[in-house]
Amino acid sequence: MLVRRRQELLDQMQGELASRRSTPLGAGYDDVCDRASENLYDELAQGFAEIATADLKRINRALQRIDEKTYGSCEVCGANIPEARLRALPFAELCVDCKRAEEATGGPEPITYAPPVAFPSTDD
Ligand SMILES: [Zn+2]
Repeated sequence: MLVRRRQELLDQMQGELASRRSTPLGAGYDDVCDRASENLYDELAQGFAEIATADLKRINRALQRIDEKTYGSCEVCGANIPEARLRALPFAELCVDCKRAEEATGGPEPITYAPPVAFPSTDD
């Protein structure tokens, strides 16, 4: 099961990286031709890189946790993280209770990772 989970994570990671590569920075901003656009572009690129780096850290940590067989356990209280939560948030490191507690106390690492969600098609 862990091996399968790891493969899923790897697949997802590759999907993430592929989707990042296929979305060039600055796309859609070509028509913004004032001076501000350069700053905007820089800020976007920097923010993007930070999010990507945070994602990679999460992925690496999740893989490491799989190796250590601690994946799926809350880092704070050690409780099992419900599978539904892991499916929605594959890199979750805290159970819901601890996550809430962390958010309540202004934790250092707000969740910026939005897992890909298959929305039902609405275009008929
Ligand atoms: Zn916990």
